[in-house]
Amino acid sequence: MSTSSTPNVFTAALSRLDKARRFATPDGELIERLQQPLATLQVAVPVRMDDGSLRIFQGYRVRYNDTLGPTKGGLRYHPAVDLNEVQALAFWMTCKCAAVGVPFGGGKGGVVVNPKELSRLELERLSRRFIQQIAGFIGPDTDIPAPDVYTNPTIMGWMMDEYSRLQGRKVPAVITGKPIPLGGSLGREDATGRGAYYCIKEFERIHGWHPADIRIAVQGFGNAGQHVARLLHADGYRVVAISDSHGGVFCPDGVEVPEAIRQKNATRGLADVYCAESVRNCEHCTRVGTKAISNADLLELDVDILIPAAMENQITAANAARIKARTIVEVANGPTSPEADEVLHGHGIQVVPDILANAGGVTVSYFEWLQNRAGLYWTEAEVHERLRQIMVTAFQGIHGRMREHQCDMRTAAYAHALDRLNAAVEAQGTYSYFNHH
Ligand code: GLU
Repeated sequence: MSTSSTPNVFTAALSRLDKARRFATPDGELIERLQQPLATLQVAVPVRMDDGSLRIFQGYRVRYNDTLGPTKGGLRYHPAVDLNEVQALAFWMTCKCAAVGVPFGGGKGGVVVNPKELSRLELERLSRRFIQQIAGFIGPDTDIPAPDVYTNPTIMGWMMDEYSRLQGRKVPAVITGKPIPLGGSLGREDATGRGAYYCIKEFERIHGWHPADIRIAVQGFGNAGQHVARLLHADGYRVVAISDSHGGVFCPDGVEVPEAIRQKNATRGLADVYCAESVRNCEHCTRVGTKAISNADLLELDVDILIPAAMENQITAANAARIKARTIVEVANGPTSPEADEVLHGHGIQVVPDILANAGGVTVSYFEWLQNRAGLYWTEAEVHERLRQIMVTAFQGIHGRMREHQCDMRTAAYAHALDRLNAAVEAQGTYSYFNHH
Protein backbone atom coordinates (compact mmCIF):
# COMPACT_ATOMS: atom_id res chain seq x y z
CA MET A 1 0.00 0.00 0.00
CA SER A 2 1.40 3.37 -0.91
CA THR A 3 1.69 6.02 1.73
CA SER A 4 1.53 9.70 1.19
CA SER A 5 4.10 12.11 2.54
CA THR A 6 1.65 15.02 2.26
CA PRO A 7 -0.53 15.77 5.29
CA ASN A 8 -3.16 13.11 5.60
CA VAL A 9 -5.88 14.36 3.30
CA PHE A 10 -8.37 11.77 4.54
CA THR A 11 -8.01 12.69 8.24
CA ALA A 12 -8.27 16.36 7.28
CA ALA A 13 -11.43 15.63 5.29
CA LEU A 14 -13.06 13.87 8.26
CA SER A 15 -12.25 16.80 10.56
CA ARG A 16 -14.90 18.86 8.77
CA LEU A 17 -17.56 16.71 10.44
CA ASP A 18 -16.51 17.79 13.94
CA LYS A 19 -17.29 21.38 13.15
CA ALA A 20 -20.56 20.69 11.35
CA ARG A 21 -22.13 18.29 13.83
CA ARG A 22 -22.79 21.15 16.25
CA PHE A 23 -25.22 22.65 13.75
CA ALA A 24 -26.93 19.41 12.77
CA THR A 25 -28.45 16.76 14.97
CA PRO A 26 -26.63 13.64 13.84
CA ASP A 27 -27.01 10.45 15.80
CA GLY A 28 -23.65 9.29 17.18
CA GLU A 29 -24.02 6.16 15.07
CA LEU A 30 -23.97 8.19 11.88
CA ILE A 31 -20.73 9.93 12.81
CA GLU A 32 -19.26 6.54 13.65
CA ARG A 33 -20.32 5.10 10.30
CA LEU A 34 -18.74 8.03 8.50
CA GLN A 35 -15.29 7.47 10.02
CA GLN A 36 -14.29 4.79 7.53
CA PRO A 37 -15.24 3.41 4.13
CA LEU A 38 -17.69 0.53 3.81
CA ALA A 39 -15.33 -1.34 1.52
CA THR A 40 -11.98 -0.80 -0.16
CA LEU A 41 -10.64 -2.74 -3.10
CA GLN A 42 -7.01 -2.57 -4.15
CA VAL A 43 -6.06 -4.25 -7.38
CA ALA A 44 -3.06 -4.83 -9.59
CA VAL A 45 -3.67 -3.94 -13.24
CA PRO A 46 -1.23 -5.72 -15.55
CA VAL A 47 -0.97 -4.06 -18.95
CA ARG A 48 0.96 -5.19 -22.04
CA MET A 49 2.70 -2.08 -23.34
CA ASP A 50 3.17 -1.30 -27.04
CA ASP A 51 6.85 -2.30 -26.88
CA GLY A 52 5.91 -5.75 -25.62
CA SER A 53 6.88 -5.19 -21.99
CA LEU A 54 4.51 -5.71 -19.07
CA ARG A 55 3.69 -2.97 -16.58
CA ILE A 56 1.65 -3.45 -13.46
CA PHE A 57 -0.36 -0.46 -12.26
CA GLN A 58 -1.98 -0.07 -8.84
CA GLY A 59 -5.70 0.62 -8.82
CA TYR A 60 -8.28 1.38 -6.12
CA ARG A 61 -12.02 1.55 -5.74
CA VAL A 62 -13.57 2.70 -2.46
CA ARG A 63 -17.27 2.43 -1.60
CA TYR A 64 -17.53 4.87 1.23
CA ASN A 65 -21.14 4.99 2.38
CA ASP A 66 -24.40 3.76 0.84
CA THR A 67 -26.96 5.13 3.28
CA LEU A 68 -28.65 7.26 0.63
CA GLY A 69 -28.26 4.94 -2.36
CA PRO A 70 -25.74 3.09 -4.52
CA THR A 71 -22.25 4.54 -4.13
CA LYS A 72 -21.23 7.01 -6.83
CA GLY A 73 -18.07 8.79 -7.80
CA GLY A 74 -15.36 9.23 -10.35
CA LEU A 75 -12.21 7.40 -11.38
CA ARG A 76 -8.97 9.34 -11.40
CA TYR A 77 -5.83 8.55 -13.43
CA HIS A 78 -2.94 10.37 -11.82
CA PRO A 79 0.60 9.54 -10.63
CA ALA A 80 -0.20 10.92 -7.15
CA VAL A 81 -3.24 8.70 -6.54
CA ASP A 82 -3.02 6.78 -3.26
CA LEU A 83 -5.47 5.10 -0.91
CA ASN A 84 -5.68 8.08 1.41
CA GLU A 85 -6.64 10.38 -1.43
CA VAL A 86 -9.22 7.97 -2.83
CA GLN A 87 -10.80 7.57 0.61
CA ALA A 88 -10.99 11.35 1.06
CA LEU A 89 -12.52 11.75 -2.39
CA ALA A 90 -15.07 8.99 -1.66
CA PHE A 91 -15.97 10.63 1.66
CA TRP A 92 -16.48 13.95 -0.15
CA MET A 93 -18.76 12.22 -2.68
CA THR A 94 -20.88 10.91 0.20
CA CYS A 95 -21.28 14.41 1.63
CA LYS A 96 -21.75 15.98 -1.82
CA CYS A 97 -24.63 13.72 -2.85
CA ALA A 98 -26.26 14.23 0.55
CA ALA A 99 -25.73 18.02 0.48
CA VAL A 100 -27.51 18.50 -2.83
CA GLY A 101 -30.05 15.72 -2.39
CA VAL A 102 -28.95 13.31 -5.12
CA PRO A 103 -30.03 9.78 -4.07
CA PHE A 104 -26.57 8.22 -4.11
CA GLY A 105 -23.94 7.28 -1.58
CA GLY A 106 -20.28 8.10 -2.13
CA GLY A 107 -17.46 6.21 -3.79
CA LYS A 108 -14.28 6.91 -5.74
CA GLY A 109 -11.51 5.12 -7.53
CA GLY A 110 -8.20 5.70 -9.17
CA VAL A 111 -5.19 4.25 -10.90
CA VAL A 112 -1.63 5.32 -10.14
CA VAL A 113 -0.49 6.29 -13.62
CA ASN A 114 0.61 9.26 -15.66
CA PRO A 115 -1.81 8.70 -18.54
CA LYS A 116 -0.07 11.30 -20.70
CA GLU A 117 2.82 8.84 -21.08
CA LEU A 118 0.62 6.08 -22.49
CA SER A 119 -0.40 5.56 -26.10
CA ARG A 120 -4.10 5.48 -26.86
CA LEU A 121 -4.09 1.70 -27.13
CA GLU A 122 -2.17 1.32 -23.87
CA LEU A 123 -4.72 3.58 -22.23
CA GLU A 124 -7.57 1.48 -23.59
CA ARG A 125 -5.95 -1.77 -22.41
CA LEU A 126 -5.37 -0.23 -18.96
CA SER A 127 -8.98 0.97 -18.71
CA ARG A 128 -10.47 -2.37 -19.77
CA ARG A 129 -8.16 -4.34 -17.50
CA PHE A 130 -8.98 -2.12 -14.55
CA ILE A 131 -12.69 -2.78 -15.11
CA GLN A 132 -12.05 -6.53 -15.27
CA GLN A 133 -10.39 -6.23 -11.87
CA ILE A 134 -13.18 -4.26 -10.22
CA ALA A 135 -16.20 -5.70 -12.10
CA GLY A 136 -17.43 -7.65 -9.07
CA PHE A 137 -17.29 -4.53 -6.92
CA ILE A 138 -19.28 -2.13 -9.14
CA GLY A 139 -22.71 -2.30 -10.77
CA PRO A 140 -25.69 -0.09 -11.66
CA ASP A 141 -27.38 -0.81 -8.30
CA THR A 142 -24.27 -0.90 -6.14
CA ASP A 143 -21.47 1.40 -7.27
CA ILE A 144 -21.38 3.61 -10.34
CA PRO A 145 -18.08 5.17 -11.54
CA ALA A 146 -17.71 8.33 -13.64
CA PRO A 147 -14.93 10.59 -14.97
CA ASP A 148 -12.58 12.54 -12.71
CA VAL A 149 -9.11 14.05 -13.12
CA TYR A 150 -7.49 12.83 -16.41
CA THR A 151 -10.35 10.51 -17.35
CA ASN A 152 -13.02 11.40 -19.91
CA PRO A 153 -16.01 10.14 -21.94
CA THR A 154 -13.85 8.02 -24.27
CA ILE A 155 -12.47 6.13 -21.28
CA MET A 156 -15.95 5.75 -19.75
CA GLY A 157 -17.12 4.28 -23.07
CA TRP A 158 -14.36 1.62 -23.04
CA MET A 159 -15.19 0.80 -19.45
CA MET A 160 -18.92 0.43 -20.07
CA ASP A 161 -18.18 -1.76 -23.07
CA GLU A 162 -15.85 -3.97 -21.04
CA TYR A 163 -18.30 -4.33 -18.17
CA SER A 164 -21.12 -5.15 -20.60
CA ARG A 165 -18.94 -7.76 -22.33
CA LEU A 166 -18.26 -9.44 -18.97
CA GLN A 167 -21.98 -9.44 -18.11
CA GLY A 168 -23.07 -10.65 -21.55
CA ARG A 169 -25.58 -7.79 -21.90
CA LYS A 170 -25.56 -4.03 -22.32
CA VAL A 171 -25.29 -2.27 -18.97
CA PRO A 172 -25.08 1.45 -19.76
CA ALA A 173 -26.11 2.49 -16.21
CA VAL A 174 -22.93 0.99 -14.68
CA ILE A 175 -20.96 4.13 -15.46
CA THR A 176 -21.79 7.76 -16.24
CA GLY A 177 -20.05 10.45 -18.25
CA LYS A 178 -20.18 8.21 -21.35
CA PRO A 179 -20.06 9.52 -24.92
CA ILE A 180 -23.57 10.52 -26.11
CA PRO A 181 -23.88 7.72 -28.73
CA LEU A 182 -23.15 5.14 -26.01
CA GLY A 183 -25.87 6.34 -23.65
CA GLY A 184 -24.29 9.51 -22.29
CA SER A 185 -26.49 12.42 -21.29
CA LEU A 186 -26.66 15.72 -23.08
CA GLY A 187 -25.33 18.37 -20.73
CA ARG A 188 -23.01 16.03 -18.78
CA GLU A 189 -19.86 17.40 -20.43
CA ASP A 190 -20.17 20.90 -18.95
CA ALA A 191 -22.23 19.96 -15.87
CA THR A 192 -19.52 20.51 -13.23
CA GLY A 193 -18.64 23.95 -14.58
CA ARG A 194 -22.29 24.82 -15.09
CA GLY A 195 -23.22 23.88 -11.52
CA ALA A 196 -20.51 26.22 -10.21
CA TYR A 197 -21.75 28.89 -12.61
CA TYR A 198 -25.27 28.61 -11.16
CA CYS A 199 -23.79 29.13 -7.67
CA ILE A 200 -22.03 32.30 -8.87
CA LYS A 201 -25.28 33.52 -10.44
CA GLU A 202 -26.93 33.16 -7.04
CA PHE A 203 -24.25 35.38 -5.50
CA GLU A 204 -24.75 37.82 -8.35
CA ARG A 205 -28.44 38.01 -7.44
CA ILE A 206 -27.80 38.28 -3.69
CA HIS A 207 -25.04 40.90 -3.88
CA GLY A 208 -26.21 42.75 -7.00
CA TRP A 209 -22.95 42.12 -8.85
CA HIS A 210 -22.29 43.61 -12.28
CA PRO A 211 -20.40 40.92 -14.22
CA ALA A 212 -18.14 43.41 -16.02
CA ASP A 213 -16.76 44.57 -12.65
CA ILE A 214 -15.94 41.09 -11.41
CA ARG A 215 -12.43 39.79 -12.05
CA ILE A 216 -11.97 36.04 -11.93
CA ALA A 217 -8.95 33.73 -11.78
CA VAL A 218 -9.37 30.05 -12.69
CA GLN A 219 -6.73 27.52 -11.61
CA GLY A 220 -6.92 24.43 -13.81
CA PHE A 221 -8.13 24.32 -17.39
CA GLY A 222 -9.48 20.80 -17.68
CA ASN A 223 -13.12 19.97 -18.19
CA ALA A 224 -14.53 21.83 -15.18
CA GLY A 225 -12.24 24.87 -15.40
CA GLN A 226 -12.82 25.40 -19.12
CA HIS A 227 -16.58 25.28 -18.87
CA VAL A 228 -16.98 27.51 -15.83
CA ALA A 229 -14.64 30.06 -17.47
CA ARG A 230 -16.58 29.85 -20.75
CA LEU A 231 -19.99 30.36 -19.12
CA LEU A 232 -18.80 33.27 -16.98
CA HIS A 233 -17.00 34.92 -19.91
CA ALA A 234 -20.15 34.63 -22.04
CA ASP A 235 -22.04 36.42 -19.28
CA GLY A 236 -19.63 39.34 -19.34
CA TYR A 237 -17.48 38.41 -16.33
CA ARG A 238 -13.78 39.27 -16.64
CA VAL A 239 -11.70 36.11 -16.53
CA VAL A 240 -8.27 37.65 -16.01
CA ALA A 241 -6.17 34.57 -15.30
CA ILE A 242 -6.18 30.90 -16.23
CA SER A 243 -3.67 28.12 -15.72
CA ASP A 244 -3.05 24.43 -16.27
CA SER A 245 -0.46 21.97 -14.99
CA HIS A 246 2.29 23.78 -16.97
CA GLY A 247 1.55 27.24 -15.55
CA GLY A 248 -0.72 30.14 -16.34
CA VAL A 249 -1.29 33.56 -17.84
CA PHE A 250 -2.53 36.78 -16.30
CA CYS A 251 -4.27 39.15 -18.69
CA PRO A 252 -5.66 42.24 -16.91
CA ASP A 253 -7.95 43.12 -19.83
CA GLY A 254 -9.54 39.70 -19.69
CA VAL A 255 -8.64 36.41 -21.36
CA GLU A 256 -10.44 35.64 -24.61
CA VAL A 257 -11.77 32.40 -23.12
CA PRO A 258 -13.25 30.70 -26.22
CA GLU A 259 -9.95 31.23 -28.01
CA ALA A 260 -7.98 29.86 -25.04
CA ILE A 261 -10.19 26.76 -25.04
CA ARG A 262 -9.72 26.32 -28.78
CA GLN A 263 -5.95 26.56 -28.51
CA LYS A 264 -5.69 24.35 -25.45
CA ASN A 265 -7.68 21.61 -27.16
CA ALA A 266 -6.24 22.06 -30.66
CA THR A 267 -3.32 19.80 -30.01
CA ARG A 268 -5.07 17.11 -28.05
CA GLY A 269 -2.50 14.40 -28.24
CA LEU A 270 -3.43 10.76 -28.01
CA ALA A 271 -6.49 11.11 -30.16
CA ASP A 272 -8.73 13.40 -28.16
CA VAL A 273 -7.73 12.28 -24.73
CA TYR A 274 -5.05 14.67 -23.44
CA CYS A 275 -3.93 18.11 -24.53
CA ALA A 276 -0.28 18.68 -25.39
CA GLU A 277 -0.81 22.43 -25.52
CA SER A 278 -0.72 24.67 -22.47
CA VAL A 279 -2.64 27.87 -21.85
CA ARG A 280 0.80 29.38 -21.26
CA ASN A 281 1.28 29.60 -24.99
CA CYS A 282 -2.03 31.26 -25.78
CA GLU A 283 -1.20 33.61 -28.64
CA HIS A 284 -4.27 35.77 -28.19
CA CYS A 285 -3.05 36.54 -24.70
CA THR A 286 0.09 38.23 -25.90
CA ARG A 287 -1.72 41.52 -25.51
CA VAL A 288 -0.09 44.38 -23.71
CA GLY A 289 0.17 43.64 -20.06
CA THR A 290 -0.21 39.89 -20.35
CA LYS A 291 2.31 37.91 -18.38
CA ALA A 292 3.13 34.33 -17.59
CA ILE A 293 2.44 33.34 -14.00
CA SER A 294 2.81 30.20 -11.94
CA ASN A 295 -0.08 28.28 -10.41
CA ALA A 296 0.98 29.55 -6.99
CA ASP A 297 0.95 33.19 -8.23
CA LEU A 298 -2.51 32.75 -9.68
CA LEU A 299 -3.97 31.91 -6.29
CA GLU A 300 -2.71 35.15 -4.78
CA LEU A 301 -3.86 37.52 -7.54
CA ASP A 302 -5.92 40.57 -6.69
CA VAL A 303 -9.23 39.32 -8.12
CA ASP A 304 -12.84 39.15 -6.92
CA ILE A 305 -13.46 35.46 -7.44
CA LEU A 306 -10.87 32.68 -7.26
CA ILE A 307 -11.88 29.36 -8.77
CA PRO A 308 -9.54 26.48 -7.91
CA ALA A 309 -10.43 23.81 -10.48
CA ALA A 310 -7.40 21.54 -10.32
CA MET A 311 -6.21 19.41 -7.41
CA GLU A 312 -6.61 19.23 -3.63
CA ASN A 313 -4.55 21.16 -1.06
CA GLN A 314 -3.85 24.30 -3.07
CA ILE A 315 -4.90 26.82 -0.42
CA THR A 316 -3.18 25.90 2.82
CA ALA A 317 -1.79 27.48 5.98
CA ALA A 318 1.23 28.45 3.85
CA ASN A 319 -0.60 30.84 1.49
CA ALA A 320 -4.11 31.44 2.92
CA ALA A 321 -3.14 34.77 4.50
CA ARG A 322 -2.06 36.08 1.08
CA ILE A 323 -5.32 35.27 -0.77
CA LYS A 324 -6.89 38.50 -1.99
CA ALA A 325 -10.07 37.20 -3.64
CA ARG A 326 -13.27 37.97 -1.72
CA THR A 327 -15.01 34.82 -2.92
CA ILE A 328 -13.61 31.35 -3.57
CA VAL A 329 -15.64 28.85 -5.56
CA GLU A 330 -14.21 25.35 -5.13
CA VAL A 331 -14.62 23.55 -8.41
CA ALA A 332 -11.84 21.09 -7.52
CA ASN A 333 -12.36 18.58 -4.72
CA GLY A 334 -10.59 19.52 -1.50
CA PRO A 335 -8.58 22.54 -2.71
CA THR A 336 -8.61 24.19 0.74
CA SER A 337 -7.09 22.69 3.88
CA PRO A 338 -8.92 22.95 7.25
CA GLU A 339 -6.22 25.32 8.59
CA ALA A 340 -6.69 27.58 5.59
CA ASP A 341 -10.46 27.61 6.21
CA GLU A 342 -9.89 29.34 9.53
CA VAL A 343 -7.66 32.00 8.00
CA LEU A 344 -10.04 32.69 5.10
CA HIS A 345 -13.04 32.88 7.40
CA GLY A 346 -11.13 35.29 9.64
CA HIS A 347 -10.45 37.51 6.62
CA GLY A 348 -14.13 37.52 5.66
CA ILE A 349 -13.52 35.53 2.47
CA GLN A 350 -16.59 33.61 1.39
CA VAL A 351 -15.89 30.02 0.27
CA VAL A 352 -18.46 28.07 -1.73
CA PRO A 353 -17.36 24.58 -0.69
CA ASP A 354 -16.52 21.81 -3.14
CA ILE A 355 -19.38 19.58 -1.99
CA LEU A 356 -21.78 22.25 -3.25
CA ALA A 357 -19.83 24.12 -5.94
CA ASN A 358 -18.81 21.07 -7.97
CA ALA A 359 -21.93 18.96 -7.39
CA GLY A 360 -23.24 19.69 -10.89
CA GLY A 361 -21.17 16.81 -12.28
CA VAL A 362 -22.64 14.10 -10.11
CA THR A 363 -26.11 15.64 -10.46
CA VAL A 364 -26.08 15.21 -14.23
CA SER A 365 -24.48 11.78 -13.72
CA TYR A 366 -27.62 10.97 -11.75
CA PHE A 367 -29.72 12.19 -14.71
CA GLU A 368 -27.64 10.02 -17.05
CA TRP A 369 -28.19 6.95 -14.86
CA LEU A 370 -31.94 7.68 -14.76
CA GLN A 371 -32.11 8.04 -18.55
CA ASN A 372 -30.18 4.79 -19.05
CA ARG A 373 -32.57 2.93 -16.79
CA ALA A 374 -35.67 4.47 -18.32
CA GLY A 375 -34.39 4.13 -21.89
CA LEU A 376 -35.75 7.60 -22.44
CA TYR A 377 -33.46 10.52 -23.25
CA TRP A 378 -33.88 14.16 -22.27
CA THR A 379 -33.19 17.31 -24.24
CA GLU A 380 -30.24 19.49 -23.29
CA ALA A 381 -32.65 22.23 -22.16
CA GLU A 382 -34.34 19.76 -19.81
CA VAL A 383 -30.99 18.74 -18.31
CA HIS A 384 -29.96 22.38 -17.80
CA GLU A 385 -33.24 23.31 -16.16
CA ARG A 386 -33.26 20.33 -13.79
CA LEU A 387 -29.62 20.92 -12.91
CA ARG A 388 -30.33 24.60 -12.24
CA GLN A 389 -33.21 23.70 -9.95
CA ILE A 390 -31.14 21.27 -7.89
CA MET A 391 -28.17 23.64 -7.63
CA VAL A 392 -30.25 26.69 -6.72
CA THR A 393 -32.29 24.80 -4.13
CA ALA A 394 -29.12 23.39 -2.54
CA PHE A 395 -27.35 26.75 -2.67
CA GLN A 396 -30.25 28.56 -1.03
CA GLY A 397 -30.73 25.90 1.64
CA ILE A 398 -27.03 25.98 2.54
CA HIS A 399 -26.71 29.76 2.30
CA GLY A 400 -29.75 30.19 4.55
CA ARG A 401 -28.31 27.77 7.03
CA MET A 402 -25.01 29.63 7.05
CA ARG A 403 -26.82 32.84 7.99
CA GLU A 404 -28.90 31.07 10.61
CA HIS A 405 -25.89 29.47 12.33
CA GLN A 406 -23.49 32.34 11.61
CA CYS A 407 -20.96 29.83 10.36
CA ASP A 408 -19.00 29.48 7.13
CA MET A 409 -20.67 27.99 4.07
CA ARG A 410 -18.66 24.75 4.23
CA THR A 411 -19.83 24.01 7.74
CA ALA A 412 -23.40 24.78 6.67
CA ALA A 413 -23.06 22.41 3.69
CA TYR A 414 -21.78 19.59 5.90
CA ALA A 415 -24.58 20.22 8.42
CA HIS A 416 -27.05 20.03 5.53
CA ALA A 417 -25.51 16.72 4.41
CA LEU A 418 -25.46 15.32 7.94
CA ASP A 419 -29.16 16.04 8.43
CA ARG A 420 -30.07 14.20 5.24
CA LEU A 421 -27.87 11.22 6.09
CA ASN A 422 -29.19 11.21 9.61
CA ALA A 423 -32.81 11.07 8.54
CA ALA A 424 -31.98 7.93 6.52
CA VAL A 425 -30.01 6.32 9.35
CA GLU A 426 -32.84 6.98 11.76
CA ALA A 427 -35.35 5.52 9.35
CA GLN A 428 -33.27 2.32 9.37
CA GLY A 429 -33.34 2.18 13.17
CA THR A 430 -30.59 3.34 15.52
CA TYR A 431 -29.55 2.29 19.01
CA SER A 432 -32.13 4.53 20.65
CA TYR A 433 -34.80 2.99 18.44
CA PHE A 434 -33.87 -0.57 19.37
CA ASN A 435 -33.57 0.38 23.00
CA HIS A 436 -37.15 1.51 23.15
CA HIS A 437 -38.67 -1.60 21.64
N1 GLU B 1 -15.71 13.12 -10.45
C1 GLU B 1 -16.82 14.00 -10.28
C2 GLU B 1 -16.88 14.51 -8.85
O1 GLU B 1 -15.89 14.54 -8.17
C3 GLU B 1 -18.13 13.40 -10.77
C4 GLU B 1 -18.59 12.18 -10.07
C5 GLU B 1 -19.79 11.51 -10.75
O2 GLU B 1 -20.30 12.05 -11.71
O3 GLU B 1 -20.18 10.43 -10.26
O4 GLU B 1 -17.88 14.96 -8.38
